[in-house]
Amino acid sequence: MNEYDSNRIYDIANKINYRKTENLKDADCYVLNTCHIREKATEKVYHDVGRVKKEFRNKKKPIVIVTGCVAQAEGEILLNKEKYIDAVIGPQSYHQINKTILNIEKNTKKINLTDFNVNDKFDTLNVFRNTNSNISTFLTIQEGCDKFCKFCVVPYTRGKEYSRPVDELLNESKNLVENGAKEITLLGQNVNAYNFKGKKLSDLISEISKIKELKRIRYTTSHPTDFSKDLIEIHGRLSKLMPFIHLPVQSGSNKILQSMNRKHTVKNYLKLISKLKKINPLIKFSSDFIIGYPGETKMTLELIKKVQFINTYSFIYSARPGTPAAKMNEVNYKISKERLILFQQTAEKIKYNYKKSLINKKSEVLFENKIKNSNEFFGRDEFSNPVITKSDYNLKGKLEEVKIVSCNQNTLFGEIEKNIKKKEHAA
Ligand code: SAH
Ligand code: SF4
Repeated sequence: MNEYDSNRIYDIANKINYRKTENLKDADCYVLNTCHIREKATEKVYHDVGRVKKEFRNKKKPIVIVTGCVAQAEGEILLNKEKYIDAVIGPQSYHQINKTILNIEKNTKKINLTDFNVNDKFDTLNVFRNTNSNISTFLTIQEGCDKFCKFCVVPYTRGKEYSRPVDELLNESKNLVENGAKEITLLGQNVNAYNFKGKKLSDLISEISKIKELKRIRYTTSHPTDFSKDLIEIHGRLSKLMPFIHLPVQSGSNKILQSMNRKHTVKNYLKLISKLKKINPLIKFSSDFIIGYPGETKMTLELIKKVQFINTYSFIYSARPGTPAAKMNEVNYKISKERLILFQQTAEKIKYNYKKSLINKKSEVLFENKIKNSNEFFGRDEFSNPVITKSDYNLKGKLEEVKIVSCNQNTLFGEIEKNIKKKEHAA
């Protein structure tokens, strides 16, 4: 979502003649968009601002603005501690970036914008055309969270659940497709809780799928308890909806899930997975896990072995200030680290075996980019696996059938069927 937000911040600032630069030393204004989900986020801000300070030691100071969830959670502290920062703007206030920049240009007063103006934000954003022209692009449809998992800062930094109107989203989707998008990933902290005046995520997906030139739809991140029947069903009938779901479970232990306030058990998580697999046997899953949550006495690997996630993201628990779990006794860091290593070894083995099982099989790949200084193209298959393919003609934006010929831990390497046929013919 920060990537979507950063692009939108740029679309707005563009209107007052600010352009992107690849070189830090050329910048007149430096916007640092931040994430607060795990530790060291604030340290990273001080570190990055320090880099800017050093670069501009003997030059005119650029405008320095910190946006995102660190600004929301610790804005006042940042402003007090690091005088080089001119403004902090939370994730629901960044539509005010131009006003902020213009004010800083005029005077030196520090600015702190951390209200929850989510309605205002999207009303303003709608005025600025989304200029992103990626083949695979993001669209924020929902923000915020009412779940209050005990470890998580999101409900405090992004605010209450909010769903954008269907019409607004259809317009922005069409706009993105006109810019060249062939794949849209619908974003939300709780994307499957999307509900605009009774229209649910499945209704929105149905509407967006009618855009002819759009080939693929994905959505992330879902919460297991918000997976309604209609959303399960649409996976059985809409071929544009990719058969790959990111479904964070966080733990394989019921005791820990309950203590996290996750509102689901291992059993009903597995039941949901079987329902989805029943409706579409092709569906594969990825997930997030927190290791070393307070009270964790041992780690279970049973769940990842059972589900065979094709990708996992695992993190050592990090106490976030202001969350209920921050008051609980932490597991010894060394023990958590050992558990994490074991977890990741097991998860990576599953992932590599899965990748190897795709060799000699065909995949449908949407190509996103040419790799610099080579005749290779980067794309993703239906399950978001990265695929690299050589080609003498431009594959960017093309959806092609590819035969997978080799792989490593993360990437598949393939050949275009037409090229294979050409070679066979020549032989
Ligand atoms: N809404 C999603 C997750 C959003 S946060 C869900 O309900 O699962 C993204 C991921 O960051 C989470 O899935 C979790 O695994 C991780 N995370 C969040 N807070 C964390 C914390 N305090 N310590 C470690 N990992 C955390
Ligand atoms: Fe955070 Fe996700 Fe839980 Fe919401 S559902 S509190 S975003 S982990």
